[in-house]
Amino acid sequence: MNRDGEEVDPGARHGIGLVWATESGLEAAAYLGRRWGEQVRAIEAGSVADALRTAYRECEAVIAFLATGATVRVLAPLLGHKTTDPPVVCVDESREYAIALLGGHYGANDLARRVADALSCPAGRCRPVISNARDSTGVNPLPPEPSLAPEPVVPTLVVGVGSSRGASADEILSTVDAALAVGGLSPDEVATLASVDLKADEPGLLAAADRRGWPIAFHPAAELAPVDVPNPSAVVQAATGTASVAEAAARYAGPGRPWAELLVPKVKSAMVTAAVARQRPRGRLAVVGLGPGARDLLAPRAAGELRAASVLVGLDQYVDQIRDLLPVDTQVHATGLGSEEARARSAVDLARAGAQVVLIGSGDAGVYAMASPTLDYADTEDVDVVCVPGITAATAASNVLGAPLGHDHCSISLSDLHTPWAAIERRIRAAAEGDFVVSFYNPRSRKRDWQLPAALEILAARRPPQTPIGWVRNASRPDQTHGISTLSQFDPAVVDMYTVVTVGCSQSRIVAGRFVTPRGYTWAE
Ligand code: SAH
Repeated sequence: MNRDGEEVDPGARHGIGLVWATESGLEAAAYLGRRWGEQVRAIEAGSVADALRTAYRECEAVIAFLATGATVRVLAPLLGHKTTDPPVVCVDESREYAIALLGGHYGANDLARRVADALSCPAGRCRPVISNARDSTGVNPLPPEPSLAPEPVVPTLVVGVGSSRGASADEILSTVDAALAVGGLSPDEVATLASVDLKADEPGLLAAADRRGWPIAFHPAAELAPVDVPNPSAVVQAATGTASVAEAAARYAGPGRPWAELLVPKVKSAMVTAAVARQRPRGRLAVVGLGPGARDLLAPRAAGELRAASVLVGLDQYVDQIRDLLPVDTQVHATGLGSEEARARSAVDLARAGAQVVLIGSGDAGVYAMASPTLDYADTEDVDVVCVPGITAATAASNVLGAPLGHDHCSISLSDLHTPWAAIERRIRAAAEGDFVVSFYNPRSRKRDWQLPAALEILAARRPPQTPIGWVRNASRPDQTHGISTLSQFDPAVVDMYTVVTVGCSQSRIVAGRFVTPRGYTWAE
């Protein structure tokens, strides 16, 4: 029931209702209509307010190309309960913002993101505005794959404790609480207590940890001794073999791990010392392929990672491609071409320091791109790494050309900047010998113009002159172009670094203008 006393049957609603008041709103509504087809319904009635009321009563969700104020005033009398009301998203006149106005957790947040994604394509950048606290931090937005989504970052406190023999649990806990209070910290934030292994059988310490349900770690004095602390003590050094117990145990994070940040230096009572440090959260590095360019060819999982990025590392042109998906406070490290190694290292180093880092690459990040140098460098256990696939240029292009990859195929990069030409040539000969369809990446640039003709000559010696060749430049980007020719007629001058070139095998055909490699054939010698 809504506030007008009407019974509302949510099941009777259908479609996403679109309501507008201006030319710009109409244009945006028409655009969403073209993109989303039958999912959306244009709602028109006597007045804009009537249309909005109708949409609210009859639709599963509402997108209002109206001011938030006007929308709130019209809908206020109709508001029922968030679980049964339709979610409402407002889009401003300049289409810069898709605002989740009502029902954030009941569809409006997701819808605002979808609207922003959709309106970002033709008309510049549109951002979702999400006001629910948890979602708007970007720490844990509603990702499509919860099991693979980044874990929220939990800051974890470690309280280091030193005590004389016989110190009571009460004194230990009151000193720990005093140290926490100095830092304005809550006992709820404590992940663990820590001390030196000499104290592993100290009854008061064990009882204190037990009483609060905190685990307690005991570290060897030799591990604690090198930890940098502000208040070392010669007396403690003589008694235990380390000049600090409380501060060093709080900072110590395990062999080879960076020391935690000391938040509260030691606080003393008669028999107890306590100090507090914050362990760095475990870093996470997502290596994410953005696909060939078009937003709707970006995998939802990749978009989920981008929406959770606290740090983003990538080539500036790719960063621009997805900037609107990032939380507003993401730190962006955009670099120019040619610094792959440095990019990989900085992404890994930032993750090691505890950040949630996303490193982006075009297409699939594992194909002639950033994943390999990054994983080579991330050779320790102290960072979690996930890789998210993207549509690679060869398949983006093959779908434009027809079905050239219908049987065995391979990819060869013609860039001899890091691979000697002799090795590349050997692989082309092997592909020719094996009658593979070949997709050439990095086929030609201003400085590297002889490699593609040389490669085609090798293939031409083993396959008929009418063998199809397809090329696609900027696959899926607004200026995509492509062509299909044959080995004997192809002009390599049409190709540049934004192009992928696919050469058929001896069985490939041009069928009704499309490049097709038959799925089943017998090998012809
Ligand atoms: N990781 C990328 C490949 C990087 S190597 C991927 O998986 O697609 C760069 C080469 O990829 C370019 O020289 C070009 O040959 C090809 N390429 C990348 N994106 C392309 C696109 N949208 N259209 C055509 N070729 C593309």
